[in-house]
Amino acid sequence: MKKIYLDSAASTIIDERVIEAMIQSMKEDFGNPSAIHSFGQESKSKIEMVRKNIAQWLHVNPNEIIFTSCGTESNNLIIRSCIENLHIKRIITSPLEHKSVLETTRDLKEKFPEIEIVFLPLKNKKGDLDISFLENLLEEKIPTLVSLMHSNNEIGNLTDIDSIAHLCKKYGALFHSDTVQTMAHYPLDFSKTPIDFASCSAHKFHGPKGIGMAFIRKSTGLKGIITGGTQERNLRAGTENVHGIVGLGKSFDFAMKELDERRKIIEDLKQYTIEHLSKNITGVLFNGHGTDFNKSNYTLLSILLPFPNTLIGFQLDMKGIAVSQGSACASGASKPSKTMLQLYTDQELKNTTTLRISFSHYNTKTEIDILINFLAEIQKNFANTNPAETD
Ligand code: PLP
Repeated sequence: MKKIYLDSAASTIIDERVIEAMIQSMKEDFGNPSAIHSFGQESKSKIEMVRKNIAQWLHVNPNEIIFTSCGTESNNLIIRSCIENLHIKRIITSPLEHKSVLETTRDLKEKFPEIEIVFLPLKNKKGDLDISFLENLLEEKIPTLVSLMHSNNEIGNLTDIDSIAHLCKKYGALFHSDTVQTMAHYPLDFSKTPIDFASCSAHKFHGPKGIGMAFIRKSTGLKGIITGGTQERNLRAGTENVHGIVGLGKSFDFAMKELDERRKIIEDLKQYTIEHLSKNITGVLFNGHGTDFNKSNYTLLSILLPFPNTLIGFQLDMKGIAVSQGSACASGASKPSKTMLQLYTDQELKNTTTLRISFSHYNTKTEIDILINFLAEIQKNFANTNPAETD
């Protein structure tokens, strides 16, 4: 059975060329980058080459690129340090953020009860944030960090980070965006977007796991939160993951050079999926701005199926198909995700199943056909066994 991988928002297949480069680096770059001898300096120069290259793609200074272990660590470093070192008194964020942001703000509130955490309200069922509310808040002159993700990982909604960065700048607030789902999938120019912090994770764009990056604008004066050596411009102590950084660098560079080509393939696949799901699955809904390519990440599509099935992830897996089961709610048998509960009421989610289909340029339309045929079969079986519930 040929397996089908449609869960690239969770993690991606590693590019063969990246694996080759990492193997080479493991053989050659064993010197500690902090050592002054040639072995160490060789490792150090590999790291600095990657830093320079990524900085060029993002139009920033290489000193503003800090390697970390993952997107979660980058988000932690940025948000925690803003509170602990930059005297931020308020974090404005959204209820749709990734756990690494939500849990970090929750933990900070516990440790520093005097800080304020404000969640922007959603304007509608599509999950749009109320930006006028943000502007009203920013008018109060409280030292603030705004943390809003570029693309939501569950439903794919895109946030206009350029406008928000300008708004934050106007009111003197710091702006962080979790760009884990968009970095190396969209061209980002931080010389034009006055953002202060962004996060990135290599395993989301065909690189290895365990390596990430934080963009930290120098002028913010952010400090590290891990105590130890002076690695990574004093912002992230610990011996650098040289091979991981080489892998991150390669995958980032390939993704940027091949961005248009990959994007075309993936957008085409997403459009095909939307059309064929609409034709073959009665009553399917697309969550968030899924069908609007200007407002939704082209790499993922979240759907609401009009029948309950808590086992769908398992059934698909038995067929060799990997997708993410965002949430399912069948007569209270399993809980919908926090994101879905922000968009729909309990009642609306009753007897539905959420799936997140996420693509890469390695996927094909044949794979999409297999997925949709199987979903149609599941729907048919459900209708046969529950005739009353489908009309
Ligand atoms: N932020 C978003 C939006 C994500 O989708 C993820 C991973 O799923 C993360 C942060 C965490 O990244 P990592 O897995 O590298 O810790």
